[in-house]
Amino acid sequence: CSDKTVVKSPTSNLSISYKAKSALDLRVDSVMQLMTLKEKIGQMNQYNGFMDFTGPVPDQGDASAKYQDIRDGMVGSMLNVRGVKNVRAVQKVAVEESRLGIPLIFGFDVIHGYQTMGPIPLAEAASWDLEAIQEASRLAAKEAAVAGLNWTFAPNVDISRDARWGRVMEGAGEDPYLGSKIATARVNGFQGEDLADQFTIAACAKHFAAYGFAEAGRDYNTADVGTSTLYNIVLPPFKAAAEAGARTFMNSFNDLNGIPATANEFLLRDILKDQWDYNGFVVSDWGSIKEMIAHNYARDNKDAARLAVNAGSDMDMESYAYKSHLEELVKEGKVDEALIDDAARRILKVKFELGLFDDPYKYCNEQLEKTVTGSDEMMDGALDMALKSMVLLKNDKNILPLKKSGQKIAVLGDLAFDKNSVLGSWRIGAIDNTAVSLVEGFKSYKGNQVTFERGPRFVTEDVAFAMEVQYNETDTTGTAAALKAAKNADVVVMMLGEHGYQSGEGRSRTQLDLPGLQQEFLEQVQAVNEDVVLVVASGRPLVLSWADENVPAILEAWQLGNQSGNAIAQVLYGDYNPSGKLPMSFPVNVGQAPIYYNRKNTGRPVLPGKDVVFWSHYQDAPNDPLYVFGHGLSYTTFEYNDIKLLNDYSSNGKITVMATLKNTGDVAGTEIAQLYIQDEFASVIRPIRELKGFEKITLKPGESKQLSFTLDKDELGFYDNNGNWIVEDGTFNVWIGGSSKTQLGTNFLLIQ
Ligand code: BGC
Repeated sequence: CSDKTVVKSPTSNLSISYKAKSALDLRVDSVMQLMTLKEKIGQMNQYNGFMDFTGPVPDQGDASAKYQDIRDGMVGSMLNVRGVKNVRAVQKVAVEESRLGIPLIFGFDVIHGYQTMGPIPLAEAASWDLEAIQEASRLAAKEAAVAGLNWTFAPNVDISRDARWGRVMEGAGEDPYLGSKIATARVNGFQGEDLADQFTIAACAKHFAAYGFAEAGRDYNTADVGTSTLYNIVLPPFKAAAEAGARTFMNSFNDLNGIPATANEFLLRDILKDQWDYNGFVVSDWGSIKEMIAHNYARDNKDAARLAVNAGSDMDMESYAYKSHLEELVKEGKVDEALIDDAARRILKVKFELGLFDDPYKYCNEQLEKTVTGSDEMMDGALDMALKSMVLLKNDKNILPLKKSGQKIAVLGDLAFDKNSVLGSWRIGAIDNTAVSLVEGFKSYKGNQVTFERGPRFVTEDVAFAMEVQYNETDTTGTAAALKAAKNADVVVMMLGEHGYQSGEGRSRTQLDLPGLQQEFLEQVQAVNEDVVLVVASGRPLVLSWADENVPAILEAWQLGNQSGNAIAQVLYGDYNPSGKLPMSFPVNVGQAPIYYNRKNTGRPVLPGKDVVFWSHYQDAPNDPLYVFGHGLSYTTFEYNDIKLLNDYSSNGKITVMATLKNTGDVAGTEIAQLYIQDEFASVIRPIRELKGFEKITLKPGESKQLSFTLDKDELGFYDNNGNWIVEDGTFNVWIGGSSKTQLGTNFLLIQ
């Protein structure tokens, strides 16, 4: 994203670095020249537009006030305006009634679909399928674009190691390597090759930064992150998003080591805009500028505006701080006008790139809105992504796949009937109750005798967006009928888990169990029929320890969106062989959180055969999670062998690691082969394992494939505590296999 040019002087060793002005910059200049200070500040304000603008322009009320500000050139962007009619109405005011007619940019949280919901992003990440993820983002962008929108507040690239945090559902899990690849795929999917295209929208890497490290998993909480973790774990996916050209960044609600991210010069100026040479713009999170008052950082909203703009937050989402105070701050000499110019220029540039200056109504096409929204293209894409996202955690006794005929099956659980919860959190544009339920998915398979019973109610009433989920804790109506069905069945399929609004923003938990009466219900069912297949719907890793010990099969089905029931039924019946792998560790119990595979050793790792009291461990639980990062089974089996190194690093600065992968089972299957490294001794302690490569491979029964991963300085180095990328000589261990626990390894000496 740099357009820097370096010119070498022909007569001396001096070189001058300057930025050549592109045609785009010149167009931005041409508008900037016409603008007053007030109008430049106007570009930096974003208003909520979650209301109806389709009627006659109102002369009073909220919509009327917003219209007036738009007319006055005091608004640069709206969020949450829904549908072409609304967008057109608001855009018309900006274009036709403001002095300069600068178009607005319309943002929206298109997190896993606009109207057609695909799997939640954490589920998508479990596919490890970058092409599929890019395609899912492309489709989401297209459906949003035809609704009049031109900017999504996605991808969320927050790494998180703590399943208590409700927003893990929005991210790509715990690993920065996988997270970076997914960040790139999603940015490319949303933005396509050309932002000026009709179906592409601007992306927003959020929340910059360390939001996923909210202490104790409590949303919005402080993040105390050391430099090594910041550089090596938190920042890489943001850097990847910036390099992929994400046109915007969003800052975060948390403070990082005592400085709110919204006013964090180190993050926004030093790292993002200077080191990474980022030329997009930064939007604040909702109200995060004014929240710095409650945060004990800003004295009042004016102070907050000063701190945020000085640090590099270019657009104010819903704090009204820039609108109310920036002009005065400039006049008082407390904010340099050059910063306003810089922010306005960045915002205008993205508007130009989107083609809004060429045609402000470019995204307003009612006909396309009708034909594209909810179309087969959208639904097929949602199904494809849902199939790829499921993770088979356990499958003993080959209980799965189910037989197509001759089996008596009981499908149990209120969630199996649910058409809403599985749409997941962050689905503002979705239509409630439109998911295919598991019961409906099952009904398209006719060969078996299937009974359906809800069992005890899941929640006391289905909840609206803003409310706390109330699980049923007492009413056991329905249990008896379900137990009867279970007793008479050959196999019981139970769908249990979390409500769709149990995860997402503001929805942190201290327990990671199956809420309400579900655990008790599971135990009651298992007591009458051991052949239970547990389908888990959740927005985060749950504690499944009891189930792991007591039921033969567990399928993690997350929240899969509109096609949920169809996708799950296809996997249970073996029409789709599951291939997902966990992007986050599933703990044994909640006390292990935060837990992650790429941890560091202590000086006291547990040594076999020793008295373990004074070694780093728990007295009441293992150190390892129940299901490790990268884990996931298939209906076939895979074997890895013959790990070897092709060359040595010193010859060309690269090393190639190979192994063979064989499908040793009876059916075709897809495996995600993973490569991990460990730098044994380093000037900053390195994790015991780090993912540095993966490949998705489909093999027929008996078929083998030679795997080959090439590692160079990008994979073998790390950030030191000053943020410099370094590669150090020494011994590296390397493993290839089907999870982060693979034992197939070798080592090599790296000498540069
Ligand atoms: C969230 C952001 C979101 C914004 C706009 C905030 O509360 O933290 O992720 O994009 O609202 O809806």
